[in-house]
Amino acid sequence: MSETAHDLIFPVPVFHEKIWGGRKLATEFGYEIPDGPIGECWAISAHPNGDCTIGGGEWEGMRLSELWDSHRELFGGVEGDRFPLLIKIIDAKDNLSVQVHPDDAYAAEHENGSLGKRECWYILSTDPDTTIVVGQRAHDRAEFAQMVEEGRWDDLLNVVPCRPGDFFRIEPGCVHAIQEGTVLLETQQSSDVTYRVYDYDRVGDDGKPRDLHISQSLDVVDYAMEAPASGEVTAPEADGVTELMDCPNFVVERVRVCGEKVLAEDWPFLCASVIEGSGTATAVADGTAHEIGRGAHFIAPAGCGGLALSGEMTLVVSHLPA
Ligand code: ZN
Repeated sequence: MSETAHDLIFPVPVFHEKIWGGRKLATEFGYEIPDGPIGECWAISAHPNGDCTIGGGEWEGMRLSELWDSHRELFGGVEGDRFPLLIKIIDAKDNLSVQVHPDDAYAAEHENGSLGKRECWYILSTDPDTTIVVGQRAHDRAEFAQMVEEGRWDDLLNVVPCRPGDFFRIEPGCVHAIQEGTVLLETQQSSDVTYRVYDYDRVGDDGKPRDLHISQSLDVVDYAMEAPASGEVTAPEADGVTELMDCPNFVVERVRVCGEKVLAEDWPFLCASVIEGSGTATAVADGTAHEIGRGAHFIAPAGCGGLALSGEMTLVVSHLPA
């Protein structure tokens, strides 16, 4: 093994209880999760609200944030004071709040230098007739404020069908809400800044409604954004790879493996999640084969020499844009 040959890195997921969460992270993915309504699996994260520990291998026991700070060579020497991506699985047994996220400029100014949040969703499973909120119909700030004030949610919110295999891109300023019966994989900027527009008048554990952030929401909603009619993926598949999203923060692709497949190392590092099937993953330069299956998440670092996959499986991968 050469000095620069690096094996794959397996972060240990961090689970978060949410009032809208369920048990599917255990029943559908086999994760060992705490009791209670567990809504989120932070699968690859160095965010302070859920900083994954590395399981096994050379970096065992280190936090992903520490690895980012002390071994930047694993991430291709990319600049930045924080690991830029956050990969989650979300189990929505109940509706999530209707929310919107700021862009980097607004978050930097109003949220103590935090990043903004661009996110996207790959739908993994749904109950029958599940829907999802992506986009809104007010033409300007005044109309949005009035519709919120009057509780005209059916008029305001763009609700579309939600089926396994659908993909939704949620730009900063896009009003959105994951609805009950949805399990999805989220790829997002490493940020936790959320402005709640509406929470179905629910109360939290303390018996009080969760905070809403109407004035911030009015500031950041993109009133000109066109709302989608569906999440159907229409991009072509080439040699098993379908590009789902290419934006200034990340590129997201679906990779189907049927037999053997090698992804060339043409990124500083790659985040990968197995969403269906099973097989093995090997860093070409290292040669150690890792058994992986639905619910496995790992990072292919710089110096891995490419990612060799074998088996029958589907992955969603993400990396920084070129
Ligand atoms: Zn969101």
